[in-house]
Amino acid sequence: MLKDEDRIFTNLYGMYDRSLAVAKKRGHWDNTGKMIKNGREWIVEKVKGSGLRGRGGAGFPTGLKWSFMPKESDGRPSYLVVNADESEPGTCKDREIMRHDPHTLIEGCLIASFAMNANACYIYIRGEYIREREVLQGAIDEAYNAGLLGKNAAKSGWDFDLYLHHGAGAYICGEETALLESLEGRKGMPRMKPPFPAGAGLYGCPTTVNNVESIAVVPTILRRGPEWFSNFGRPNNSGTKLFAISGHVNTPCVVEEAMSISFEELIEKHCGGIRGGWENLKAVIPGGSSVPCIRGENMRHAIMDFDYLREQRSGLGTAAVIVMDQSTDIIKAIWRLSKFYKHESCGQCTPCREGTGWMMRVMERLVTGEAGVEEIDMLLDVTKQVEGHTICALGDAAAWPIQGLIRNFRDEIEDRIRHKRTSHTSAVAAE
Ligand code: SF4
Repeated sequence: MLKDEDRIFTNLYGMYDRSLAVAKKRGHWDNTGKMIKNGREWIVEKVKGSGLRGRGGAGFPTGLKWSFMPKESDGRPSYLVVNADESEPGTCKDREIMRHDPHTLIEGCLIASFAMNANACYIYIRGEYIREREVLQGAIDEAYNAGLLGKNAAKSGWDFDLYLHHGAGAYICGEETALLESLEGRKGMPRMKPPFPAGAGLYGCPTTVNNVESIAVVPTILRRGPEWFSNFGRPNNSGTKLFAISGHVNTPCVVEEAMSISFEELIEKHCGGIRGGWENLKAVIPGGSSVPCIRGENMRHAIMDFDYLREQRSGLGTAAVIVMDQSTDIIKAIWRLSKFYKHESCGQCTPCREGTGWMMRVMERLVTGEAGVEEIDMLLDVTKQVEGHTICALGDAAAWPIQGLIRNFRDEIEDRIRHKRTSHTSAVAAE
């Protein structure tokens, strides 16, 4: 289990005051200006060396992403945009950072922006996060008043402004280019890539979009060293990570743990075990609602990291772990996700706009058992036609849960259809 002294987020549960003065006592904003004076290359190399992979779901190496930004300006400004839209069902980790430990994020914004030659950073926060916005804005104001933001921020010699932008509650605005569109005042509709944001992002300028947790861990990585961070977890999956565990465990929670912890340890140490015991575990969605589910019996010894879960044909995603016990109607649970993605599709591309509705309607028939057995393969085929054929990843996000359901629980779907048929035939015979 991760030792307390190795936790980056020391106020995840709001046990302490979140003010700047108390955050400083916990070690934040310690020598920030001096660290910045070490230069851009120094910061980017440290982040690369730590092995940090993006915490927003895709797991792309953060330092590498930063290095795509232009070293010299061609006259256009550069921007850092922090994605605090956190709308994936099951995901609730960034919220804890923003409402209890906001200075980890604000300090990270300054350092990361400097490393990417950005004098301005925008945090785009989810529409429903009203209290979190208030707390974060309060912390930003405090930092301005203390000279940690603004001209010569934290005596670093770097002028830096940080803006908080409140979204309106659309899931699709968590997609990085839709987020940029929304920030510019337009409808949150994803852009075609290329051009990638590092070439032409916000207002057509070089932009990097990073997740809250990815940015908030940076100051501690620089202070404690990349080796310290990369010591946790398996190679290529390093660091500590916030896991958000919900569903049928005894005590759902958000907890910081070492990457590559086993699923069993995570659940036993932090969640009081599975409701009704391990035999009662039916399925787990290990990385937020868009990744395929895994059968319970294959999860107990699972390693919670990017590479292992990808090998299991699922994913770590945002590490939002949704646990379902035997009382779950898994077909109905996945149907509910289909309904969500259908509702959140921006409608811009045909496979997603039409496909999400089509998939949801077949899923409805699977829930009631009214579909034919042959429709299972037909549905699977449609998910393949949507996957990889859309402008953004929402199409994949809608397809993958259904693929996971069919791969892991086809027997249950078929049983329901057969049972419906048999009960219908018996009812007719009895008439
Ligand atoms: Fe919009 Fe869906 Fe296309 Fe993404 S995949 S751009 S959400 S229609």
